[in-house]
Amino acid sequence: MASEPWGRIEHVAEGVWALVSNPLVDRTTLCNGGIVAGRTGVVVIEAFASEAGARWMLEQATRLTGRAPTHVVVTHYHSDHTGGLSGAMGDGERGLLATAVTRDLTLERNRGAPSEILRNAQEIDGGSPTEIDLGDRSVIVVPRRGHTGSDVTLEIPEQGVVFCGDLVWNNMFPNYVDAMPSRLTQAVRLIRLRGANTYVPGHGPLADDAALDAYIGLLDDVEAAARRALERGMGAEEAGREYRLPSGLEKWTLFNPGYFGRAIGAWMTELQSP
Ligand SMILES: [Zn+2]
Repeated sequence: MASEPWGRIEHVAEGVWALVSNPLVDRTTLCNGGIVAGRTGVVVIEAFASEAGARWMLEQATRLTGRAPTHVVVTHYHSDHTGGLSGAMGDGERGLLATAVTRDLTLERNRGAPSEILRNAQEIDGGSPTEIDLGDRSVIVVPRRGHTGSDVTLEIPEQGVVFCGDLVWNNMFPNYVDAMPSRLTQAVRLIRLRGANTYVPGHGPLADDAALDAYIGLLDDVEAAARRALERGMGAEEAGREYRLPSGLEKWTLFNPGYFGRAIGAWMTELQSP
């Protein structure tokens, strides 16, 4: 539907599109995201890494749906999902939706975060699902946690589409920088129970059930590596240097070679805490 150095837009279902970014090539958008169109509104999922990236996505949404987006939803506070907020909000009459935790963490931790936009955000309930009514269809925003202290998935049940944010990665090893590892594993297993046709991961190509199963296998393998490291009295960095991806996933890439040690270390911390 559109292809640029930073990513391509794929048609996922009627009125639903996903952006699959190429973060190792060009960081204009960096994370994946999406567009959901209904009779009375258009939702853009994520605000991306840069204002230029967010503006481009807004233009694509307008082009594909024939109307300017009415809502922008960010799945969590990380700057590759919120860095383009000013561009995403533009000058239109659209609302930003985020959980209170995501709003506050974006303000506290992301340098240059647009405070006025964030303070005016509509708060997504952190405890129970929120419906975004688009007239002839709804997007269900489900609060979860595990990748950060507050993540949301955006779900369109009748079309079997789940936008997973960074709870799910595909073909790329996940970032555990803020992860609560057991919560992450639990959240991903709950997402898998949706039995969706398409899972849009936070990073990497679109996933199906088999891809999600492989990802769950990887999360479990990281936990096992952390348990072995503890038994052997190894540090997380050393265990990370030794870590090898499970068979079948050898081609998964990394943003950074330190990600293995970071993931194992997150598990070690959790396993050792009382
Ligand atoms: Zn993230």
